[in-house]
Amino acid sequence: MTDANSAKNGSNASVNGPEIPEIRPPSNFLREQMAEDVRTKKYGDAVIQTRFPPEPNGYLHIGHAKAICINFGLADDFGGKTNLRFDDTNPEKEEQEYVDSIQKDIRWLGFEWERLCFASDYFGQLYEWAIQLIKAGKAYVDDLTADEIRQHRGTLTEPGKNSPYRDRSVEENLDLFVRMKKGEFPDGSRVLRAKIDMTSPNLNMRDPVMYRILHATHHRTGDDWCIYPMYDYAHGQSDSIEHVTHSMCSLEFADHQPLYRWFIEQLGIFPSQQIEFDRLNFTYTLLSKRRLLQLVQEKHVSGWDDPRMPTLSGLRRRGFTAEGIRAVVTSLGASRTNVVQDIELLEHFQRDDLNHRARRAMAVLHPLKVVIDNYPADKVEFVGVANNPEDQAAGTRQVPFSREIYIEQDDFREVPPPKYYRLSPGKEVRLRNAYFVTAQSVVKDTAGNVVEVHCTYDPASRGGNSPDGRKVKSTIHWVSAPHAIGAEVRLYDKLFAKPDPGDVAEGESFLDNLNPTSLQILHDAKLEPSLSEAKAGDRFQFERVGYFCVDPDSTDGKLVFNRTLPLKDSWAKIEKATSGGGAAR
Ligand code: ATP
Ligand code: MG
Repeated sequence: MTDANSAKNGSNASVNGPEIPEIRPPSNFLREQMAEDVRTKKYGDAVIQTRFPPEPNGYLHIGHAKAICINFGLADDFGGKTNLRFDDTNPEKEEQEYVDSIQKDIRWLGFEWERLCFASDYFGQLYEWAIQLIKAGKAYVDDLTADEIRQHRGTLTEPGKNSPYRDRSVEENLDLFVRMKKGEFPDGSRVLRAKIDMTSPNLNMRDPVMYRILHATHHRTGDDWCIYPMYDYAHGQSDSIEHVTHSMCSLEFADHQPLYRWFIEQLGIFPSQQIEFDRLNFTYTLLSKRRLLQLVQEKHVSGWDDPRMPTLSGLRRRGFTAEGIRAVVTSLGASRTNVVQDIELLEHFQRDDLNHRARRAMAVLHPLKVVIDNYPADKVEFVGVANNPEDQAAGTRQVPFSREIYIEQDDFREVPPPKYYRLSPGKEVRLRNAYFVTAQSVVKDTAGNVVEVHCTYDPASRGGNSPDGRKVKSTIHWVSAPHAIGAEVRLYDKLFAKPDPGDVAEGESFLDNLNPTSLQILHDAKLEPSLSEAKAGDRFQFERVGYFCVDPDSTDGKLVFNRTLPLKDSWAKIEKATSGGGAAR
């Protein structure tokens, strides 16, 4: 168990950069409900207790970040506590790898749990309670097959039918259930069901299954059990055992709430209150764990932490910051209506955060050699450059300049189109922090491509200004050729080509909506030499290009960078167009 510490509720202290003022959370109905319950002493003097209850059957994603911020953030606002509880009732789909990754991701997001709990810790208690319900005539062993149970269940418009086994005696039910536990029956041959009401308008109340027989090895309890509680039987009571006061979860659980309450009332145990909120989703994004697993298993991505994945580990590897994720989630608050948010909003908050914390560097992704003919061949000058104009404390560095440099291919046109102000024959531009240069001639390969540009420079313009006040229309970045270090750069785009990846034609699947150009690899980027010190996870703004992060695939001899985001903020445009929608801060 870990003590709540300063990381709780996402303290802003960062090892990567300056303090950034946290956005004040907007009011939301969950907070209002909690405030009311505290005011009326609904739980006496008990402290507010929440929990985050993931099933360890996949990695956490951006949607979970919302549930995490709500559960940890609100409890903290009221001086309460939050448990991390793994709802591990499904041994066939759950793994220790997921348990570990979930803990890592929650901590990365900036939260620390009060207690680490597992529903499997309560298997003994849940079994005792099942016996209690059988004895009270509230649960029975059913021999119908899964198919038959489904057929008996009815529909939204038709009531269900009672199972022929529904009126077994308490003695027979007890005997059968104990023997189910002992392993006397094969998988799927019997279940334990709650005896509620087969005609209830809420399908969840039509004698839901509480236990199934499953001879499977559990990642924590091993082969101790061959019957496992259903999620719906375990969840509410697990909350109750932990004295969770506010059990907050996404909207799809609203119809299950009456069932959780029914179990709690029959058993007379601590009455946790469930409150549902909207599910977070973004355009171009899929958040179903089943589908994310499919992407991983079928190798459409390199793993759960592929930088194109909406998982927290993927976003982290891509270079997203925890602060930026918390900020966007907080800005959205909580409501009772599911809305798909523009992916640009998520990106906007990242750019905003990265702009404050990312060190600047010059990198040329598509290099074009430039030779400055009137610059001495053996001369090297060092120009002083601010590491982050947004953060004085980040200091400055010295960048070498020499006769041969690289610029972006895009920054030169032999025949410039109208309004093209960058380098072209006869045109003068500023090399950032260095000199004015004017293009004079080009060298071409046999195919006619420009492979080298020859320029002259104005020695009086050192630092980027000409004493005669001459203006240039464009400033471009550069890297000194003899000092440059080579790197691989991975450019990511959206994983899906459609805003709704689930929008498919008859006979197609979401896989048909994968964006075929979501990853483009550049093998020959040229970086300023200070980047040779960069370590996996370090984030940079490559000037005029975008935000980048060092990938863990980097080795001593070869750096690999992931593009987190290009610089252009399309959300700012959307916001302008819709005048103040959504992202106002
Ligand atoms: P899936 O349905 O894809 O299996 P899940 O939502 O069931 O995923 P859980 O591990 O059960 O995954 O989720 C843990 C908690 O996170 C739950 O309380 C759930 O309400 C919440 N949660 C999951 N997805 C979202 C989301 N997109 N937005 C907000 N909360 C979410
Ligand atoms: Mg679930």
